Amino acid sequence: MARILDCLVIGGGPAGLTAAIYAARFHLSVRVIDAGASRAGQIPCTRNYPGFPEGISGPDLLGRLRDQALKYGADIVEGHVDALARRDDDFLITTSVDVEQSRAVLLATGVTNRRPPMAADLHAEAVATGRLRYCPVCDGFEVTDQNVAVIGAGSGGVRETLFLRAYTRRLTLISPDGFQELTPKDRRALEAAGVELLDGPVSDLRLEDEGLSLDWAGGRKTFDTVYPALGSDVHSDLARGLGAALTADGCVKVDAHQRTSVSGLYAAGDVVIGLDQISHAMGEAGVAVTAIRNDLDARAPLRRP
Ligand SMILES: Cc1cc2nc3c(=O)[nH]c(=O)nc-3n(C[C@H](O)[C@H](O)[C@H](O)COP(=O)(O)OP(=O)(O)OC[C@H]3O[C@@H](n4cnc5c(N)ncnc54)[C@H](O)[C@@H]3O)c2cc1C
Repeated sequence: MARILDCLVIGGGPAGLTAAIYAARFHLSVRVIDAGASRAGQIPCTRNYPGFPEGISGPDLLGRLRDQALKYGADIVEGHVDALARRDDDFLITTSVDVEQSRAVLLATGVTNRRPPMAADLHAEAVATGRLRYCPVCDGFEVTDQNVAVIGAGSGGVRETLFLRAYTRRLTLISPDGFQELTPKDRRALEAAGVELLDGPVSDLRLEDEGLSLDWAGGRKTFDTVYPALGSDVHSDLARGLGAALTADGCVKVDAHQRTSVSGLYAAGDVVIGLDQISHAMGEAGVAVTAIRNDLDARAPLRRP
C-alpha cells in the first residue's frame, strides 16, 4: 500500500472531478478512482450548464474538468471501488487494482437511470440524437411544442408528465403497468393538461427520421421525443456497507457540509438527494471538500512541509 491519502474520491463525474480540483488546490493529496460511467458522458450537448452559451457536450466538459484537476496535481485512475472499511480513524479502500488508505473519503458515485427495453447501441443513438431524454429540468426547453411521450409508472411518471406540460401541449403518458393505481387527483391533473394515456408495456423501440417509434398495448406510435421516467439505481452500496444513513430511495443523507453520518465519509452529486444536475453536483463537491479540508485541519493542523 502506498502512502496514506488525505482524500480519496470515488467517482469521476462532475462531482468527483470538481472535488479533485478543490482538494488539489488546497494542497491535499487526492486520488480519484473512477469506473468511467458518468451520466454526464451521455450528454450530447448541455445547454443549461452556465458559462457556455452555445452549450457543451458532456464528454468535452468531463475532459476539461479532468485537465484542470490534473494541472493542480490530482491523481485520477480508472478502476472500481469494491469495498470500503474503517481502519482506526482512516478508511481502507479496496479497488479493482489495489488497496488504498485515506483519511477522508468522498462518495461521488452518482446514479444509473433505468432504461426502456432497447439494445445499448440503439439507446446510445437515441440519446445522442435527442429522441430519448432523461431530464426535463435539463432539456425540457428543447422539446417545446413537440410531440412528447413519457414512459413511467406511478407518481414518478405523472410528475414528469405534468412538469413537461409547461413546455408542450402534445403529451402522452405510457404506463408499463396500466393506470389502475392512478389517484383521482393525478387523473384530474392529467386530464386538465390534455395528456393522452396509453397502456404499456412498450416494446420494439425504433429510431425513425421523424422521431422514436414504439409498440404499446394498443398499437404503434411515433413521438418526437420520449422521456423514460422509470426511476434510478443509486450507487450508495459503499455507504450502506459502512452503516451510513440513507433516504428511503437509497440516497446518502448528508448535513449542510456534505458530511454523511459516518465520520470522515462525505458525499456529493446525484448519490445525494438533490436536483441531479451538473451545477448542483459541482456546488456540493466544493462544499464537501472545503469541509474535508477543515475537518482534517481540526484533526491535525495542515502546514506546508
Ligand atoms: C442523457 C442525459 C442528459 C443530461 N443532461 C444534463 C444537462 O443538460 N444539464 C445538467 O445539469 N445535467 C444533465 N444530466 C444529469 C448529469 O449528467 C448528472 O447530474 C451529473 O452527471 C451528476 O454528476 P455526478 O458526478 O454526481 O455523477 P456521475 O456523472 O454519474 O458520475 C459518477 C461516476 O462514479 C463512478 N462510480 C460509481 N460507482 C463507482 C465505484 N464503486 N467505483 C468507482 N467509480 C464508481 C461512475 O462510473 C461514474 O463515472 C443529464 C443526464 C443524462 C443521462
